[in-house]
Amino acid sequence: MSTTIRIPTPLRGFVEGQGEVAVQAETVGAALAQLVSAFPQLRRHLYTEDGQLRSFVNLYVNEEDVRYLAGVATPVNEGDTLTIVPSIAGGLAASGEAAELSQEELARYSRHLIMPEVGIEGQKKLKAARVLLIGAGGLGSPLGLYLAAAGIGTIGVVDDDVVDATNLQRQVLYGTSDLGRPKLEAASERLRDVNPHIVIVPHPVRLTSANALEIFQPYDVIVDGTDNFPTRYLVNDACVLLGKPNVYGSIFRFEGQVSVFYAKAGPCYRCLFREPPPPGLVPSCAEGGVLGVLPGIVGSLQALETIKLVLGEGEPLIGRLLLFDALALRWRELRLRKNPECPACGEKPSITGLIDYEEFCGLRRPAAALDALPELTVHELKARLDSGDRLVIIDVREPFEWEIVNLEAQGARLIPLGQLSDHLDDVPRDRDVVVHCRTGGRSARAVRQLLDAGHERVWNLTGGIRAWVEQIDPSLPLY
Ligand code: ZN
Repeated sequence: MSTTIRIPTPLRGFVEGQGEVAVQAETVGAALAQLVSAFPQLRRHLYTEDGQLRSFVNLYVNEEDVRYLAGVATPVNEGDTLTIVPSIAGGLAASGEAAELSQEELARYSRHLIMPEVGIEGQKKLKAARVLLIGAGGLGSPLGLYLAAAGIGTIGVVDDDVVDATNLQRQVLYGTSDLGRPKLEAASERLRDVNPHIVIVPHPVRLTSANALEIFQPYDVIVDGTDNFPTRYLVNDACVLLGKPNVYGSIFRFEGQVSVFYAKAGPCYRCLFREPPPPGLVPSCAEGGVLGVLPGIVGSLQALETIKLVLGEGEPLIGRLLLFDALALRWRELRLRKNPECPACGEKPSITGLIDYEEFCGLRRPAAALDALPELTVHELKARLDSGDRLVIIDVREPFEWEIVNLEAQGARLIPLGQLSDHLDDVPRDRDVVVHCRTGGRSARAVRQLLDAGHERVWNLTGGIRAWVEQIDPSLPLY
């Protein structure tokens, strides 16, 4: 007789990602015995060492809890569904103190308290939970606001940036009066105003391999709101090493991705993306842009998944990748599988400690090559232009960036980085050439490309056109 066993998401990693497994058995006990003999890794999650079913594993035949039937002796028939419901299916054991709720908190959270999925117990779980936000930018803004409002008792935030004018188009934690302030200072003030019953823990540092494990340790859930690959891999590996869930969100232009990477129960980020793209292939938001409201949508979904994990309610986004296309307004969901050969969470992991993520992502050249890259400051450029020097200025940004601001008046011409290899011969070899982009990253790659192609008189403009606007001509637009 064929019975279907439904595998809860957190355990699917042990059954090759399957949501259902069919067995031939006559009782619940026999069905489970077949399951664990087919998937031996599952055994220790379901049974104690002396062969007893673990107390936090609940079993249902169709809609009925077998504890109210005949337990493991309950018969199963053709077409029945046996559902395994382990309490770990979402219930994170929150590390904070189980706290009582005050009268003010009861009033504040009343819309939660009247829902059976939350209730007083759920609200206490939220209060006891400790959640760490990596980044207080576009994703961190809705995350911080909603998690604070919902009553997550301890919210840590890692960020070492200051608020600048380009942030305000999407980073709704901040207002115009915050310009120039450290983000953590402004964010802490705002979040404490949203909810004075919670604790905000600022971590005003840059997250590195040296400090990540120590910073992550006290938290139950890590939420990745970063915008660069080295930090994503760092966050993933630290979460895998510490056994913590990583609520992932990423945004670019009109597209978003959301998932929950939890190596204990499913795939990790490296199972999905084993290695980063080569530097420069995928532009950052600063280079490619991002639609203002998109981080609001993706960050809110991350906040939702975080709250579900803490409550242990619903079906977490573990083993699933949600793709959002804002232009078409379409969602797609892909199933993610745990890669048994994953270097972080696979059977024989090669990553047993944190590594140098800048180098891993190809962002750090050997020191000698970096030193060898000729640089020119904006003041040096200005002085040479003023002295009548016939420099060639090449702008390697995109045409839409040229539209915003350019150095055409100084003689600049546009060759976007992606087209440079087709125009190497258009760059004169008998004159000094200064290459610039927005902040100096793309132009450094262009200078490297030109040097490799045999050009000798090439310089990178340090700080790009941003530095020019800030230091030489503040009347131009800054972006
Ligand atoms: Zn993995």
